Amino acid sequence: MLVLVVNAGSSSLKSQLIETDGKLCLMKCLAQKVGTPEASMSVAFSPEFQKVKYNVAGFTVEQCLAKLLDVLVEDPESPIGSLDQIDAIGNRVVAGGEYFTRATLIDDEARGHLAEIEELAPLHNPVADQCIDLLREAMPNTPQVAVFDTAFHQTMPPKAYMYPLPMRYYNDYHIRRYGAHGTSHRYAAQQAANLLRRSLRDLGLITCHLGNGGSITAVNHGKSIDTTMGFTPLEGLMMGTRSGSIDPAIITYIMRKEGKTFDEMDHILNNESGILGITNESSDMRDVLESADAGDEEAELAIDMYVYRVQKAIGSYYAAMTRTDAVVMTAGIGENSARLRERIFEGLAHMGMILDKQRNDVEGAIGVNRIISIDDSPIKICVVTTDEEVRIARETDNLVSQL
Ligand code: ADP
Repeated sequence: MLVLVVNAGSSSLKSQLIETDGKLCLMKCLAQKVGTPEASMSVAFSPEFQKVKYNVAGFTVEQCLAKLLDVLVEDPESPIGSLDQIDAIGNRVVAGGEYFTRATLIDDEARGHLAEIEELAPLHNPVADQCIDLLREAMPNTPQVAVFDTAFHQTMPPKAYMYPLPMRYYNDYHIRRYGAHGTSHRYAAQQAANLLRRSLRDLGLITCHLGNGGSITAVNHGKSIDTTMGFTPLEGLMMGTRSGSIDPAIITYIMRKEGKTFDEMDHILNNESGILGITNESSDMRDVLESADAGDEEAELAIDMYVYRVQKAIGSYYAAMTRTDAVVMTAGIGENSARLRERIFEGLAHMGMILDKQRNDVEGAIGVNRIISIDDSPIKICVVTTDEEVRIARETDNLVSQL
């Protein structure tokens, strides 16, 4: 099945054309800094993937998507000559609220519900909805699916998703924990089950998506029962530029002390904190590891804090589950940094998560799903690779194939 995957962000557009039968990517598009003077969009086709840049200054994300559709039809390198050759469209939608508990075919009814939950992710959902509308108009006969970051976590029990706030905030504004990175956690759990040659239903897994953003999920018998992100993706772990969980009283304290506005405070917590906040240099773990090697104390502190918070989250989910068979590492840091994995699991051996240092650090193993614990580690440690667009294409294929 030929699936066009559309991942529209607040100021970015990622898209791929994926042939799901052969797991082939035929086109990659990336538009960044959309809406700013530095906006750029590149499109590349297989097999060479030579990027061609397009001028998108002054465009909205939706207009970038319209441009991409033109390129897909007109570029001689494109594998398609007409949009009719695309079998299905898979859209990433950040927030699905309580209504969307799984990937959903977008008909008029679903589109109506999408409009109702836009305010749950005001920077992301409205943009995704506009892209969906554009595609419904441009390709009215092609089935469209919405794949939600939150859907996998809709199995969390109330004790995990409720905040101890006055009940009216849940009743009036649906303030509760929704989690995020759901497609990644679901995919990582399934890949780990394949590695362990066991059914996902029989396993207790702790999946760790450690990238720029990061979250950890307790997956009990295939279902998410708790996750570190909450009402928004700001809760939980320390991240590249996000603070993760802090004492909420700090927010009002700083606002009073420095006369910050709500928007300024949002910016501090989402864009100026986390690894960047501590190092004052970079949000990128590779840079921070390099600085720490050169003796930078703040970089070392940032790594220490990062590792400690990941360890505590893994420990708390060990307590939350009825069994723990494996811890699964994925995304930029989880997949690629043997060093960080070593630091994390150094502190967890007493819980029965025993890393095999050699397996952890095999050169050339990056990109290969594998087990990196010692043979008789009571709890296995797995590394699995993730590709958001491929996961969305698969979920779309699964749903559309059933039509
Ligand atoms: P995003 O959330 O933007 O998709 P990624 O999953 O690509 O992010 O993860 C980006 C993070 O992964 C960055 O902090 C980057 O430094 C880190 N990373 C990637 N490769 C390595 C590596 N070899 N060692 C340490 N960190 C790495």
